Amino acid sequence: MKVNSADIVISAVKPDQYPGEALPEFALAGRSNVGKSSFINKMLNRKSLARTSSKPGKTQTLNFFLINEILHFVDVPGYGYAKVSKKEREAWGKMIETYLTSREQLKAVVLIVDLRHPPTQDDIMMYDFLKHYELPCVIIATKADKVPKSKWQKHIKITKETLDLDPTDHLILFSSETGQGKDEAWSVLQSYM
Ligand code: GDP
Repeated sequence: MKVNSADIVISAVKPDQYPGEALPEFALAGRSNVGKSSFINKMLNRKSLARTSSKPGKTQTLNFFLINEILHFVDVPGYGYAKVSKKEREAWGKMIETYLTSREQLKAVVLIVDLRHPPTQDDIMMYDFLKHYELPCVIIATKADKVPKSKWQKHIKITKETLDLDPTDHLILFSSETGQGKDEAWSVLQSYM
């Protein structure tokens, strides 16, 4: 898809702040530092629209991006940052759970993992949580430019096995450095619209 416009429309913490339009929506989740902001920026052809934002200590919000006036991306604060307090973690969990379980226009969740390493315990928990709610998932295995091409298949296999990937969920090899996987990611997302 050719992105002509992309803007942040709201940072929300609770449902009455979510945008009212019933546009198809995709949530983007991943552990802190995995490359989620870079993925969003690459998909939207923007340098720094999504910030390496949800840094610990900052307010944890769901950031809604309106794209081409026809869909929303929802940037979910990163998980798995060790120094977050129990209270913050609980608030995060509640906010995410409320959003994921109540948002009717949510078409699929894009879960970003690092192709270089097997998915972490946090990644597995997130994926299990999404599958518990029967949400379609698109796995983005990013930082592919950091793995030699000859090892891609091996790393993909490990990623799929570690997550126990549902055969109906797509896994896409991605690099925010090279743009690899961008067209495939858009066509998979469009298939859910
Ligand atoms: P976030 O915390 O998940 O939003 O992560 P960022 O998008 O800020 O990325 C974390 C770090 O990984 C930054 O230094 C990025 O430049 C780097 N990074 C992200 N994606 C890629 C990628 O595809 N390839 C490479 N080589 N580095 C990446």
